[in-house]
Amino acid sequence: MRAVVFEEVGRVGVHERAVPAFDGGDVLVRVAATGICGTDRAILLGEFPARRGVVLGHEAVGAVAAVGAGVGSVAPGDRVVINPTYHCDRCRPCRRGMQAHCGAKAGREVGVDRDGTMADYAVVPERFVHRLPAEVPYRRGALVEPLACVLNNLAAARPRWDDRVLVVGAGPIGALCALVLARRGARVTLAERDPGRSAVARQVLPEGVRVLEAGEAVAADSPDVVIDTTGTLPGDLLGAVAAGGTVVVMGEREAAVAAVPLRALVTRGIRLVGAGPYRPADFELAVDLARDLPLERLVTHVLPLERYAEALTMLAATAGAAPGGYSAMKVLLTPDEGVAP
Ligand SMILES: [Zn+2]
Ligand SMILES: [Zn+2]
Repeated sequence: MRAVVFEEVGRVGVHERAVPAFDGGDVLVRVAATGICGTDRAILLGEFPARRGVVLGHEAVGAVAAVGAGVGSVAPGDRVVINPTYHCDRCRPCRRGMQAHCGAKAGREVGVDRDGTMADYAVVPERFVHRLPAEVPYRRGALVEPLACVLNNLAAARPRWDDRVLVVGAGPIGALCALVLARRGARVTLAERDPGRSAVARQVLPEGVRVLEAGEAVAADSPDVVIDTTGTLPGDLLGAVAAGGTVVVMGEREAAVAAVPLRALVTRGIRLVGAGPYRPADFELAVDLARDLPLERLVTHVLPLERYAEALTMLAATAGAAPGGYSAMKVLLTPDEGVAP
């Protein structure tokens, strides 16, 4: 089979690999599409450590090709989405309901240190495979995984009815936050520095979401909740948030440091929180929400595996890429254009 392999920092290539072997409890998935994520970009740029030679990709949908003898919940032909956040269910974080922070992750991070899904086939343990509802096309299902991440972070933000929410960063994660919040009736504003990304966001998001012009002050609306998907706490977000408000740091950047005026947390009752990836229940909720959230609106490009380099360039995943280099929102790679969305 063909697979998009991380060779070393700055280098990725399509390699010929054997179809992976599977055990009694595993599912062999014929991949239909994999979304390219900020993590893949960070791996390529050397900002996120990954094993050399690993098959990239973790946001995937496909059809069950074969199952191990002990698998009962899915059968060949079923359309599925993969939960790539493997966890052991035995360590202390897992037992305390924090499976995303499982202590036994080494060797189990799909597309990082365990072979991922940018390939013809992927092997997944049964419990990390979910059947896609019939009304969810692959193109939409490919966004279930990032949606799960968004749901966990929105839960940490605890927005109330009528809250004004500021989402910082209009990448796929910021756009998904806006989509979910708008549907819940929140007043959502999106701030993005990159003019290319703001333009795409305006095209794909519902009209109710306000995308700020470059340079427009974020403080004007005095938001009750700020979701910082850039992971850098840019500018004076703590000064902008309303008294009693919440700031969620969602993106992650290696070595990102912010000077925080701690007094504001006390005198204005502000919560500054992080939540990280999703729990298994968030993933199930994301599968269910996908029935009627038009997630596919965020998919601007679907490209065959072989055109991975073009896809990465669209996402400015080349060292030194100029600001304004984003020409895409969510890009999917597909091994089979006949099957894919
Ligand atoms: Zn991802
Ligand atoms: Zn664990």
